[in-house]
Amino acid sequence: MICKLCLQDKKPKSNTHYLSDFIIKTALNEDGVTTRGKGMYWEINSRKLTVDFKFQQQASPKALENLLKRKTTAKENIDAETNIDFTVSDSFCKECEDIFTKIETEFVSKIIPKFRNSNLKNVREKILNEKESRIARLFFLLQFWRTSQCDSGLNLSTQLNEKLRTKILAIDNTGLEDIPLSTTYLETIRDPDDRNNDNSYKTLNVVSVQERSDPSAIIMNDFVIQLYENLQFPFFHFYGINNLDDYEDYLNYNQPIIKIKVLSNERRKGILRAYFSQAAKLFIGNHALFFLDNFTQQYKKLPSNHQIEHYLRYISKNNDLMKFSKENLVPNILKYFKRFYKY
Ligand SMILES: [Zn+2]
Repeated sequence: MICKLCLQDKKPKSNTHYLSDFIIKTALNEDGVTTRGKGMYWEINSRKLTVDFKFQQQASPKALENLLKRKTTAKENIDAETNIDFTVSDSFCKECEDIFTKIETEFVSKIIPKFRNSNLKNVREKILNEKESRIARLFFLLQFWRTSQCDSGLNLSTQLNEKLRTKILAIDNTGLEDIPLSTTYLETIRDPDDRNNDNSYKTLNVVSVQERSDPSAIIMNDFVIQLYENLQFPFFHFYGINNLDDYEDYLNYNQPIIKIKVLSNERRKGILRAYFSQAAKLFIGNHALFFLDNFTQQYKKLPSNHQIEHYLRYISKNNDLMKFSKENLVPNILKYFKRFYKY
């Protein structure tokens, strides 16, 4: 394998996250526990009709069985071992993974404590000093670079890719201020009615690579990062993360210091509501089309609005996401026809 960072022919290091594990793990794990590899989660993809249930290697077999109402299949087990979201096995060598770890470790020790487990009550922005800003810039740009190497949804220009590659390889965090980079921190506080143990609580936060440019954007749990290659761009609302009145203040363009916007726990919830509501709208839209398809096949005519509505209301009724899994979708619509359409 040619390693994508050092460009040498090396043995790959397998099963490593391309979004830093310590940032995303509390969002991917079912109950917020911070053990690597124990996550199970739903992927609601607004472009797809089905909901994929994903789990990582060590999620408890009992919990999985309860959810799926069956044993996991051999294929799912292999997927869990080899193909977890946001991980790669064939891109970087051990030495380069160590470089990533160095960049990440510095961020963890110098920057993370300013945000996580820190009292952010009434704090609306954090300004990092020059040294901290350089550490944070290289860390966030590493997320964009690694993702662009591993995920076809995120694309950076060849020029920027190469600049970032050489900076990361040399662990050189200087001279990056000409890349407009906006960061938002979503204050994440445990719900008062959450009954999990001390360090494990559900955040409902998401990890999502947005398919767009200017900004390229990644929601990584409580950190949201946006990168611009071109400063002539239309304002992007981004579920309310960006604000027309002040988004320019947070581009940190050609500034030695980085300003990070902090959104309160309440705002975070509003953003997540907007995120899920948009995904749900697209998802339901896809189901309307799915119904249209199946109805016309079955009855050789178009359904009325009332008929489409009835189906959508029917499928939205219970919270069992399993009915949207690949294996259940078609049997369920046939059951639906049998139950509600006698002729
Ligand atoms: Zn390498």
